[in-house]
Amino acid sequence: AQLDTLDIVVLAALLLGTIAYFTKGTYWAVAKDPYAGSLANGAATKAGKTRDILEKMDETGKNCVIFYGSQTGTAEDYASRLAKEGSSRFGLKTMTADLEEYDFENLDSFPEDKVAMFVLATYGEGEPTDNAVEFYEFISSEDVSFAQGGGISEKPLANLKYVAFGLGNNTYEHYNSMVRNVTKFLDRLGANRIGTAGEGDDGAGTMEEDFLAWKEPMWKDLAESMHLQEREAVYEPVLEVTEKPDMDAESDDVYLGEPNKNHLEGKQKGPFNAHNPYIAPIAESKELFTVKDRNCLHMEIDISGSNLSYTTGDHIAIWPTNAGKEVDRFLNILGLGEKRHMVISVKGLDATAKIPFPSPTTYDAVVRYHMEICAPVSRQFVSALAPFSPNENIKAEMTKMGSDRDYFHDQVAARNYNLAQLLEFLSQGQTWDKVPFSIFIEGLHKIQPRYYSISSSSLVQKNKISITAVVESVEVPGASHVLKGVTTNYLLALKQKQHGDPNPDPHGLNYAITGPRNKYDGIHVPVHVRHSNFKLPSDPSKPIIMIGPGTGVAPFRGFVQERAKQARDGETVGKTMLFFGCRKKAEDFIYADEWEAYKNDMGDSFEMLTAFSREGAQKVYVQHLLKQRAAEIDRLLQQKAYFYVCGDAANMAREVNTVLAQIIAEQRGISESKAEDIVKAMRNSNAYQEDVW
Ligand code: FAD
Repeated sequence: AQLDTLDIVVLAALLLGTIAYFTKGTYWAVAKDPYAGSLANGAATKAGKTRDILEKMDETGKNCVIFYGSQTGTAEDYASRLAKEGSSRFGLKTMTADLEEYDFENLDSFPEDKVAMFVLATYGEGEPTDNAVEFYEFISSEDVSFAQGGGISEKPLANLKYVAFGLGNNTYEHYNSMVRNVTKFLDRLGANRIGTAGEGDDGAGTMEEDFLAWKEPMWKDLAESMHLQEREAVYEPVLEVTEKPDMDAESDDVYLGEPNKNHLEGKQKGPFNAHNPYIAPIAESKELFTVKDRNCLHMEIDISGSNLSYTTGDHIAIWPTNAGKEVDRFLNILGLGEKRHMVISVKGLDATAKIPFPSPTTYDAVVRYHMEICAPVSRQFVSALAPFSPNENIKAEMTKMGSDRDYFHDQVAARNYNLAQLLEFLSQGQTWDKVPFSIFIEGLHKIQPRYYSISSSSLVQKNKISITAVVESVEVPGASHVLKGVTTNYLLALKQKQHGDPNPDPHGLNYAITGPRNKYDGIHVPVHVRHSNFKLPSDPSKPIIMIGPGTGVAPFRGFVQERAKQARDGETVGKTMLFFGCRKKAEDFIYADEWEAYKNDMGDSFEMLTAFSREGAQKVYVQHLLKQRAAEIDRLLQQKAYFYVCGDAANMAREVNTVLAQIIAEQRGISESKAEDIVKAMRNSNAYQEDVW
């Protein structure tokens, strides 16, 4: 029989699909790199990118790979720092590697004269970061097997030398479980750990210092094990920044803050995700309360037509822009104020170098849209900058700050300085024009989208996402300035603009709110949605108990909105208890009118309990209210109620956990340790869910 054209087309498509499937990762790259294919300078991911780490190391002449499992960029940043230090101090040939970009079946062929480092953040309830999920599944598997056939009992990784550092938060129950588990699995497989596995604690605020304290003995052990000679570290750029005076910043191929090529060409194209934001219109914005030192925003972000979707309990990520005031400060102190619109091209000097934003671009765009310039200063970075100080005195001071932990704390951290503020302070305004710009791109964080718990129900408003955010404004006694949160003040400026203020300028911060080439004009903000596991029971008749003081009530507004709608639609809705707390009823009791309306819809099945901490002689918090309702809470739990906590991770969430165990112990007449086990079991079965930050 003859094939007609359609058959041929179908067959050809099938064949191509099959080839593509079997060669996946060998001959074509899965475009996970945010800017893959979008860099105008040719440094983009090459076609034919391999997922074989050994091949990659051989090809590029590396003997040290630093894998990272990173969610917010800190682990990735630490990995880059280890790479730079290994190279400049010990002559190692280093590269960093995103765990999701490689396969691990051939780790058993890892040569003895090379080393692998693992920098692993723990996320949420002891989970791997998104980019480490596959690696974790592989390495933790009971029947893991490698390319050469070895399984657990044969110690297949006997040749693998490795070091490990974990990033965690001791306010969470599964503190640093990623690094603890991964080292356990690697050790089980026979791998050779060099030094101890480090653990950084974000909860205690000591992450940076824990990292610095861990890495010195680690380098010593590694140098011994690999016979490395330490040498005086000099800055070796990984990126090359070239000024292009003959190019015009306004020309079509220069990135002025656009995150990728589609955005540059003015046609945003989905899928929208952590690498590709959707420039969303803000449909509505208002202040829920405004008092002397605090205000709280409510915004409605329109996602219709974007193909973005959410379900109640998800998070939305907002991509911030740095405040103009801080951009100016940064550029001016480096002597780049006048040259801010100079076109620059950024190239990797090494095949494994990653360029965190598309190029060609301008100094202004890099500082405004791509670098976290307002964050706390890293002590190690102060040491790295010291050699480029404007004079010897300042250099001596920088060197001292870099090497003396307590001195650094008093002089820098306690004053809440960001980097440019520190440089200004040290040089009394004299410019730091000897610092190579590449050191900032390599050493500062890439700007991170901030997450917000969506405060609407997808059942009620499918195409509009609400957020509820308190504007960050931190006054430290003795510090010379008030610290302004990057994203929340940007949102405040957007709100002011939407309400007709032609020059919205919260606190003189001067945001470029119309975005690159005015692409955010008409009140838009770049966003993406992150799906979460923080979910209502699928059966609305199940009882739920929600603890959400302050902005912790955000997702619960969505939950209650959803249940109120279900009640209006005639469904049976189970007991819905919401514990809310704030300072004063008349001041910061957010959505007060709405709760009344939901009560009308839901009747007695909805109950709101409020704690006002600054009314009356005694401070009342949600934990106290919980105790007052102990009997009922226990009864609901016995009826398989779902228990939810949202908001402050450091204190509230932990205390609620403790109080709940106490309630169970008292009500059921069992020991506290037994009650704690019950709470743990609830967590494991998703009957106890947290959305904390
Ligand atoms: P940033 O600029 O990021 O500053 C934040 C804090 O960092 C400052 O307050 C300060 O303590 C510290 N800091 C920054 N710079 C310095 C410096 N130079 N020196 C010393 N300290 C410094 N927030 C809400 O309001 N509502 C929500 O519903 C909500 N949901 C969230 C859900 C999740 C899953 C997560 C992870 C977070 C959530 N957050 C929520 C918090 C939110 O993501 C942001 O962290 C918050 O809005 C602050 O962002 P910002 O950019 O304004 O502040």
